[in-house]
Amino acid sequence: MKDCASYGFETKMIHAGYGGDEQSHSVVPPLYQTNAYYYDSTEHAQKLFELKEAGNIYTRITNPTNAFLEERITALEGGVGALAFSSGHAAMFNAIVNLAGAGDEVISSRNIYGGAVNMFGVSLKRLGITVKFVDPDDLSAWEEAVTDKTKLFFTELIGNPHANISDIESIANIAHKHCIPFLVDSTFNTPYLCRAFEYGADFTVHSATKYLSGHGQVMAGILIDSGKFNFKNNPRFPLYNEPDVSYHGLVFADLGGMAFILRLRALIMRDLGSCLAPFNSFLVLQGVETLSLRMDRHCQNALAVAEFLQSRPEIEQVNYPSLKSSQYYDLANKYMPKGASSVFSFRFKGGKEKAASFMNGLKLIQNVSNLGDIRTQVSHPATTTHSQLSEEYMRLNGISGGDVRISVGLETLDDLLKDIEQAL
Ligand SMILES: *Cc1c(COP(=O)(O)O)cnc(C)c1O
Repeated sequence: MKDCASYGFETKMIHAGYGGDEQSHSVVPPLYQTNAYYYDSTEHAQKLFELKEAGNIYTRITNPTNAFLEERITALEGGVGALAFSSGHAAMFNAIVNLAGAGDEVISSRNIYGGAVNMFGVSLKRLGITVKFVDPDDLSAWEEAVTDKTKLFFTELIGNPHANISDIESIANIAHKHCIPFLVDSTFNTPYLCRAFEYGADFTVHSATKYLSGHGQVMAGILIDSGKFNFKNNPRFPLYNEPDVSYHGLVFADLGGMAFILRLRALIMRDLGSCLAPFNSFLVLQGVETLSLRMDRHCQNALAVAEFLQSRPEIEQVNYPSLKSSQYYDLANKYMPKGASSVFSFRFKGGKEKAASFMNGLKLIQNVSNLGDIRTQVSHPATTTHSQLSEEYMRLNGISGGDVRISVGLETLDDLLKDIEQAL
């Protein structure tokens, strides 16, 4: 179904983006495992290259299976367009360089995925892009970090690894007051638990490696554009308001709500090339078809596991935002009334040694550097995902050796609780 706007979320999960296939009448969105497409004539080819006619040229730029996924997620998020990438990290990097270059600045929450801290603080820095990290709860810190070089605000709605909730509506207001776009990493919440566009995000990014695919088989990322950010005559973005030398003198701001996402595809994807393999799109599409069912159960199991851990004398603190004891309880209810997903951390009273002995004692739950899988997985942030970060960063973000991060899966709840109990 191409036009799904009037349908509910679950119908869109299953039908959005795929309008049927005239040749095969395939029920499932077909896998177009091809790298290129034949032209009807030289004139046809020329029109495609000049963007005067829509059509496929080369899979780095467009692929029909990727388009099914892009349109489906666009429908679920409530945006105007999306672009799939080879990983969540690629989606993030490409989105940033679609806005910022050498000499520019980005303001980011500091409570984010460890890999993103490295990308921002080391690799982007080498390219001349300065990322200023702020405490996401300190709204005045966002405002104070703004300069005339700022091109983007970035946060994760649910932070990493302690599941802090960013007040995205308030952060969006500050960004927009300064005509700066706002990108939200919605990997943990997915569009089922929260659609960040409804609270002012201009773009969302997902590591589809996680809940969207959900079954642990793929690396994938996707960037969605709300179409609401206005680049036209915005003095922060000469890039969008001057004729583009590599695109027939096109002024991207003239494309209105499609400016960001079309530039991302036509220029950044064309030049940097982190496209998603069609087979991986096919697998993510299959995952998305059961997203709501999985997320409901993820949330249900996570709350029960969090409550159990909270009742145990070995545990100092449980950072699950849906617990009444959490400082983020109100924000979690505001942004995610159906539940706050299934990734959170908890701290052992005995520090690193106790955390390690617990993790080594688990029989069913796996020690894996991943999350959002149907399988329950734990990790030790201080020695894995966040281990490349400085002592100072660890201290500021309250990451200690006693912390264990859990991503609660879909196994029988009683089996999970028993495994945790025996390992304690
Ligand atoms: C995993 C993750 C990423 C990176 O995505 P990859 O698919 O691993 O490249 C980015 N943000 C968050 C919140 C993540 O959990």
